[in-house]
Amino acid sequence: MKKILLLGASGSIGQQTIDVIKNHLDQYELTGFSVGKQVDKALMILKDLKVAHVYVKDAEDAAKISEAYQDIKVYHGQEGLDELVEAADYDLLVNALVGFVGLQPTLKAISLNKDVALANKETLVVAGELVKKALVDHHVNLFPIDSEHSAIAQCLQGNKHEEIKKLIITASGGSFRDKSRDQLKDVTLADTLKHPNWSMGAKITIDSATMMNKGLEVIEAHYLFDVDYDDIEVVLHRESIVHSMVEYVDNSIMAQLGNADMRLPIQYALGFPRRYPINTEPLDLVKVGTLHFEKMDMERFPLLKLAYDVGRKGGNLPCIMNGANEEANFAFQKGQIAFLDIEALVFKAVEKAKFKPITSIEDILEADAWVRNYVRKQIEVINK
Ligand code: NDP
Ligand code: MG
Repeated sequence: MKKILLLGASGSIGQQTIDVIKNHLDQYELTGFSVGKQVDKALMILKDLKVAHVYVKDAEDAAKISEAYQDIKVYHGQEGLDELVEAADYDLLVNALVGFVGLQPTLKAISLNKDVALANKETLVVAGELVKKALVDHHVNLFPIDSEHSAIAQCLQGNKHEEIKKLIITASGGSFRDKSRDQLKDVTLADTLKHPNWSMGAKITIDSATMMNKGLEVIEAHYLFDVDYDDIEVVLHRESIVHSMVEYVDNSIMAQLGNADMRLPIQYALGFPRRYPINTEPLDLVKVGTLHFEKMDMERFPLLKLAYDVGRKGGNLPCIMNGANEEANFAFQKGQIAFLDIEALVFKAVEKAKFKPITSIEDILEADAWVRNYVRKQIEVINK
């Protein structure tokens, strides 16, 4: 029985992870989980699964759960996530938090010698070097949940690292793949949240439309698989059937295919290296008929190009880019800025930032705090 601690249980990945666990109660035991503000979802989970540790963001919600379940240890507040990660009994941390908030719990779990299944790509973008070093120091495994990285991990099985020629990451193109840059001026939040292929949380759906998501994924792939940026290619693939590929030195390309359903990569990360039956729709290639692949247009999607540049330069810049994007993405969700302001703010912050190497978590916290403050001020200027 594998014991699982799930962070972000109320989100899109979190709820699908619960589904995977419930379908394999002979394999997995959920020993603890966190939600942010959606305490109703916490109560739903507790109806079906008996867990010992729960985190909710606010003190009042924590009190509600403590009252209803007196045998559960409930955590809240800023330090609470780390306390949960420290106190719970588990073999695998599943990190389905969104954003920078996912970093510290990941590092904490690794420091406690726990394996991690990671959906929270922001962790690797802001602290790739530190996370990698921690993994080596503590002899623990990191299993990717992001569908592209799960696909690559699957395509790498049984092959040697030195035989990789390149990674080919597929991109659906997001909600506005057929719009020109000119047409992006007046798009609304509701338009942005209509992803053609995937149903996901708001932040990543917006990141897919700006193509920041694919930029974050390129950096994530660089750290996960130790491949140079020159050897990571992104191709536009509208159908989201081929989840990514690996090309080898003999020109053989391995691909992983499946319907756009995150329960497969979640289950693969939880069960690695085993595969188990799943209750999702199987892929019918005859029905799909045709698959398309196109070159990515870096002028149409400048944030993807920026991510390559920032990834190559390294240091604090990926953290700066990520923090600027999180602030801008959030401001767009609140209706404070227009869609195209997101990328303008990210570019501005990266240009303004002073390059610094990253040697500790403090360096990352400093870069993140600086950029959030900078971007918030720029947003105030836009709103004046
Ligand atoms: P959601 O927004 O759906 O869920 C995010 C989760 O994090 C929720 O449980 C939320 O709690 C919690 N959370 C957010 N902020 C805080 C905070 N400050 N403190 C504590 N908890 C917090 O996101 P997704 O599930 O879509 O994405 C999660 C991660 O997985 C992201 O990094 C995303 O990029 C990545 N990913 C997602 C995919 C998808 O299909 N959704 C695909 C590939 C990667 P609450 O809602 O209760 O406040
Ligand atoms: Mg992805």
